[in-house]
Amino acid sequence: MRALFLDRDGVLNVLRPDDYVKNPDELEVLPGVAEALELCRKQFDRIFIVTNQQGIGKGLMTEADLEAIHRKLVESIGPIDRIYHCPALKREHSFRRKPNIGMALQARRDFPDIRLKDSVMVGDSETDMLFGRRAGMKTVLVGNNSTVATDQPHLVDYRYSTLLDFAQQWRS
Ligand SMILES: [Mg+2]
Repeated sequence: MRALFLDRDGVLNVLRPDDYVKNPDELEVLPGVAEALELCRKQFDRIFIVTNQQGIGKGLMTEADLEAIHRKLVESIGPIDRIYHCPALKREHSFRRKPNIGMALQARRDFPDIRLKDSVMVGDSETDMLFGRRAGMKTVLVGNNSTVATDQPHLVDYRYSTLLDFAQQWRS
């Protein structure tokens, strides 16, 4: 089975530079995402979100805040098979925190029928590309972060402006 792994901030919702989405009011879903996911559900057997949320580790928000944010997100974009997050601080070097692949391995444990080599990671950062590459997935860069594609072209298999462009053009 094919899975689609999605980064959250900068892919599904507006990235808040040098800050975190700390409550549902700060969540701003990007245009076209609900439509994109509708298309993606036809091409992928499972859809996951994998998101680093060290705002929790820093004490800026709680697990309950994150749950409320994700409830609002799902209301807006439709069902997601599972949302994985890592609350650890960057400096803790958690195996769950991207670019480490703990969350991908967790998904494979939770859904043993998925094959990572047939799966795709979509993200907007080098961290996401490295995560996808290390987990053996195809990597898709979206958004305006062109430095990743320029500096680390070996990490980026495909590139699209938005998740909707990816969803409309992707053929597995
Ligand atoms: Mg991101």
